[in-house]
Amino acid sequence: MLKSSNLGYPRIGANREWKKALEAYWAGKCDEAQLIGQLERIRLDHLKLQQDKGIELIPVNDFSYYDHILDATAMFGLVPPRFQYAGGVVPLSTYYAMARGDKGATACEMTKWFNTNYHYIVPELNGAKPTLTENRPLKAYQEAKEKLGIEGKPVLIGLYSYLKLSKGYELNQLDELIEQFLPIYTQIVQELAQEGVQWIQIDEPILVTSITQEDLLRIRRIYSTLHEAAPSLNIMLQTYFEAVDFYEEIVSLPVQGIGLDLIHGLGQNLESIKSFGFPDGKILGAGLIDGRNIWRSSLEAPLQLLQEISDYVPYERILVQPSCSLLHVPVSTRPETALDPVLKNALAYADEKLDEIILLVQAGNDGQESVQAKLDDSRKAVELLNASSSRNKEHVRQAAANIDLQPASRENVFVKRQISQQEKWQLPFLPTTTIGSFPQSPEVRKARQSFRKGDWSNEQYEEFIQAQIQIWIKLQEEIGIDVLVHGEFERTDMVEFFGEKLNGFAFTLNGWVQSYGSRCVKPPVIFGDVEFTTPMTVKESVYAQSLTDRPVKGMLTGPLTILNWSFVRDDLPRSEVAFQIALALREEVEALEKAGIEMIQVDEPALREGLPLKKEKWDRYLEDSILAFRLSTSTVKDTTQIHTHMCYCEFHEMIDAITALDADVISIETSRSHGELIHTFEESTYELGIGLGVYDIHSPRIPPVEEMVSMIDRALQVLDPALFWINPDCGLKTRGIEETVASLRNMVQATEIARAAR
Ligand code: GLN
Ligand code: ZN
Repeated sequence: MLKSSNLGYPRIGANREWKKALEAYWAGKCDEAQLIGQLERIRLDHLKLQQDKGIELIPVNDFSYYDHILDATAMFGLVPPRFQYAGGVVPLSTYYAMARGDKGATACEMTKWFNTNYHYIVPELNGAKPTLTENRPLKAYQEAKEKLGIEGKPVLIGLYSYLKLSKGYELNQLDELIEQFLPIYTQIVQELAQEGVQWIQIDEPILVTSITQEDLLRIRRIYSTLHEAAPSLNIMLQTYFEAVDFYEEIVSLPVQGIGLDLIHGLGQNLESIKSFGFPDGKILGAGLIDGRNIWRSSLEAPLQLLQEISDYVPYERILVQPSCSLLHVPVSTRPETALDPVLKNALAYADEKLDEIILLVQAGNDGQESVQAKLDDSRKAVELLNASSSRNKEHVRQAAANIDLQPASRENVFVKRQISQQEKWQLPFLPTTTIGSFPQSPEVRKARQSFRKGDWSNEQYEEFIQAQIQIWIKLQEEIGIDVLVHGEFERTDMVEFFGEKLNGFAFTLNGWVQSYGSRCVKPPVIFGDVEFTTPMTVKESVYAQSLTDRPVKGMLTGPLTILNWSFVRDDLPRSEVAFQIALALREEVEALEKAGIEMIQVDEPALREGLPLKKEKWDRYLEDSILAFRLSTSTVKDTTQIHTHMCYCEFHEMIDAITALDADVISIETSRSHGELIHTFEESTYELGIGLGVYDIHSPRIPPVEEMVSMIDRALQVLDPALFWINPDCGLKTRGIEETVASLRNMVQATEIARAAR
């Protein structure tokens, strides 16, 4: 008999009540006891919901007060000294200080959770000795059992993944660290076993990355120890987001269950099961429902897959589960009352995915006939969306499918273009510019809201935006910036803005997912063929240009960023969707050029985010990404200057790909890792225009002139001065007006000093 299981449930709540509770507590609007009470209610509601649906293995300890990795860190008592922790159970105030910073102690670093848009708090080890301050998985288990009679499955981050995600140690200390942490993990599993816990889910997502034989030896050592310590406890070693490379070694580890992602790692994982079989007596956690997207499954494919797998693993030893924790999808489609019914009916958020799991189990155990009507509904819902006109725009599909026929190279190489561009633009040595957005003051946000609500007319709103543009064009001229921007006041979000104007996008009412802490995002949904309809940015750019003799850069979001920050249809390869977006953006680029905007920036801050987890897949992704960017930007005149912007600093990993974008100028974020970047340029050459951010826009601090002068000096030692631009790190949207103006004045002054020194 198949059984159902879940790997994790979204914590934010159907109406984001979790977020609201946290924020009320931080704002001092409720006390600790109230927060604890509220979160307990939310947690129990979520468990009850899974129980009512009939999920057999319900995860516990997946809930968090902020982030599950921070939970583990707190459980191990690994509080960095700057937070003045005295030992014992980590107080809530310390926990949140680590997450958010407090009284001069800077917050712990936050970084992306694998290839998702979730961010975790990076553990700082720095020689600190871990202890077990409380057994959180045990407490979660007891709570679910006592309050709801649920025989829960505690979830715990695996030791190896935890260490690999931590910082503050050298690689050669890894074995020593394992020795330090193993007794703690041992104690946790022993206490669980004593309590009579049947299953623990230990997450080891690191197993899907490019690991080595040495890693495997360590992993074997960890799981042998845990198994010996608590032989009666069943360990489900859970992987997700990709296939495992060392399948044979991994399935032979001394654990009772192996969880595999049969969505994102399908090809390779299935191939492995077929070639090597699956060990007798072990349980397969079959990730059959996609935990990373919002699409309903037609259920035919997973049912067939179950059939196929049953040749190797009988149903009695299969758990039907999502491909990963449902943390990465919104809660329920029920409140999506504003969507087109065909689209709405083809969506599945967390709750609907759990229903799909139950349905698969029923179909497998009782025969498909027993649930035929429901299976038919699923199939029809998907078919209907696939057949809709929004997914069948012949010309869009044709163009993206035959992408080789589209122009993807500028007419001349950069060195030639550079000459024509310099002749046309006559820019000074070390030209100054900014990244695009200027401060979105409360006034700007209010105006946009009034317009959205319908309180303001179109004209009223446009007038307001124009007034803002006017103020900032004047300011930029007065500060002495060479290449100006209009300020992006009309945009809330750099993807949403374009999504609302292109065909093929939908916006949900309740499609929220946790990004970090209490911060949630509501990604646009790319559900149909993406098509340009009408110019999206021309009006504002042209208006800004009409106010000044200096060049104004047009400002677009690039195809990969639009793709990577959206929920993307899964009936087409992602690359094909990227090409569709690219071709639509090309029309915008051409419209801008035609309207006299001849410097155009195509931002790609999320290009790097899309890098696959396995290195061997990088080339393909980068090739497609480069092509998409070039499809958008190649049809312009030699004298039209294409800029791009990315905000990350691991430039060295991707220098060839970035060069291949063939953008005339790139601006990147570097002020926080300037040294590292300079080092990159000592080792490799970059021969297109480049602006290294000379100050950090993430802080309200006004950078002193001398500091920027020395940054510029150092950069000029490794980069061709004739190609060098001066700019801040990123857009200035979140900054205050005064600090922005003061910082830009200093930046221009620093530039003048650097110019004079030449
Ligand atoms: N042009 C955008 C802005 O300035 C770029 C934002 C980003 O890189 N994230 O806001
Ligand atoms: Zn940026």
